[in-house]
Amino acid sequence: MKLKTERLNAVRRKLKANTRPSASGCWLWSGYTQPNGYGWLNVAGLKIAAHRAALIVAGRDVPNGLDVCHRCDVRNCVNPAHLYVGTRAENMADCSERHRHNKPIGESHWRAKLSSADVKSIRARRDSGEFLRTIAVDFGVHTTTILRIARREYRMEVA
Ligand SMILES: [Zn+2]
Repeated sequence: MKLKTERLNAVRRKLKANTRPSASGCWLWSGYTQPNGYGWLNVAGLKIAAHRAALIVAGRDVPNGLDVCHRCDVRNCVNPAHLYVGTRAENMADCSERHRHNKPIGESHWRAKLSSADVKSIRARRDSGEFLRTIAVDFGVHTTTILRIARREYRMEVA
């Protein structure tokens, strides 16, 4: 999605006027927020999620049909450094699973989430042919994480 310069500038101004930094490094959107927690922007005839707008304004390519996800789990955060473009499936697996499992917000990472016993269990389940997705949901992590653990690309310290 590309915006014309005029619109882009209007979006940039609106973002700047409605964003405040937080101690955690998140840039919190203080404008209108949807019931689902995502910031929402209505400017220059454009209606767009604030975090999506933030990534576009930052000059990143945000293809239509792909979601913008938060690394930080803070839905009204518009810090481009905390955002990435993912598929809808990734967004569901990643963002919402983390919310459902109520993982701590911030710098938490799958490395810290999975114990050595978890890693062994993941490999055993994968070796027995279970679907990546089923395992990922059970552990509240991304399917890619499961795949890499199963392939021994991650957590090689666990025998
Ligand atoms: Zn953030």
